[in-house]
Amino acid sequence: QDFRETLEITPLSAADLIEPHRICVCVRKRPLNKQELMKKEIDVVSVPGNGTLLVHEPKQKVDLTKYLDNQVFHFDYSFDDSATNELVYKFTAKPLVQSIFEGGVATCFAYGQTGSGKTHTMGGDFTGRQQNSSKGIYALAAQDVFAHLNHRKFANLDLSVYVTFFEIYNGKVYDLLNKKTKLRVLEDDRQQVQVVGLEEVYVSTTEEVIKILQTGSACRTSGQTSANANSSRSHAVLQIVLRRNDRATTLHGKFSLVDLAGNERGTDVNSYDRSTLVETAEINRSLLALKECIRSLGMNSDHIPFRMSTLTKVLRDSFIGEKSRTCMIAMVSPGMASCDYTMNTLRYADRVKELKGSSKSNDAPKTHESLNSSSEEELPLDTNVYD
Ligand code: ADP
Ligand code: MG
Repeated sequence: QDFRETLEITPLSAADLIEPHRICVCVRKRPLNKQELMKKEIDVVSVPGNGTLLVHEPKQKVDLTKYLDNQVFHFDYSFDDSATNELVYKFTAKPLVQSIFEGGVATCFAYGQTGSGKTHTMGGDFTGRQQNSSKGIYALAAQDVFAHLNHRKFANLDLSVYVTFFEIYNGKVYDLLNKKTKLRVLEDDRQQVQVVGLEEVYVSTTEEVIKILQTGSACRTSGQTSANANSSRSHAVLQIVLRRNDRATTLHGKFSLVDLAGNERGTDVNSYDRSTLVETAEINRSLLALKECIRSLGMNSDHIPFRMSTLTKVLRDSFIGEKSRTCMIAMVSPGMASCDYTMNTLRYADRVKELKGSSKSNDAPKTHESLNSSSEEELPLDTNVYD
């Protein structure tokens, strides 16, 4: 069943056309890994499709408070462990590429515990150790941006593409494109936030972007000046910036793609030292702030609590305006040992989604199976969910 056909069967109402899907929340389950298979870890997550995901925890007679059985969650899309990065991309970040060409701001977040697949989804394998590398959302989005750039629909806009790549650790911004230089975040009296001195590099091909990501990612993990600058405890942000080729290189659109810090800390804080506690508090604060900002965007609220964290301060522009779009991909590990973390992740994602616009009812959730079988033949502009 073609995804576009599905859309035709359930036509969007006029209201949906004006305000389509500002916030999309999805979930992706990774496969059990080698170690988990060796330990005979039980897979407790199933994805029947229709945007649904189930967590099964065996009944525990000993501790009844931990009794959980078939917890059901509904999201815009749910991807099972057979989904490729391309498929996930197609229904999450891809629709946002068009929105930045239309002069909007967009954000895509990968959320979840460490080891759940955030970096795999965003960065793909070129940043890792695997040989047969597959592109992640960063590279797939860049590829689409260049395809759009050359498309007749946008050619007359005369745009150029730039990227920034930085990390937020313990509330501080570090430029991954400039030897991890620590940068200051300033807010002027019109609430405009600026990261002072952030490198913005002109790019004209996907390969250039991948090169930049490789360099930046290497800097992220190896350039640990302090022992605690661990990549799982920081947020990594890639921004794809569209500027007009006028004298002032006016901003046209911006897409921020964020590989968030692992959300697992804070649930078991017993064994941590002081600096880890500070770190944990900062991560918790920024993830809470993020949730509140997305919810405010979903409610069209005038008050965006962006000052709550550096992450939301830096992304402030993304939470305001008619043309803001956000997509959150919640990553879950399938193993029973991760069950508590998985439930935390799903509850968070559920809260983000809860107060989104009322467009849900008309937009039938898509099954992963139907997504998978959708047409392979496609132009970058034709598969836009917002069209
Ligand atoms: P995170 O960034 O959330 O800490 P990673 O993306 O580094 O997690 O994933 C942990 C490990 O699991 C990596 O070795 C990664 O290649 C693997 N992995 C994650 N998601 C998938 C997936 N969907 N399919 C196959 N392997 C995956
Ligand atoms: Mg990671």
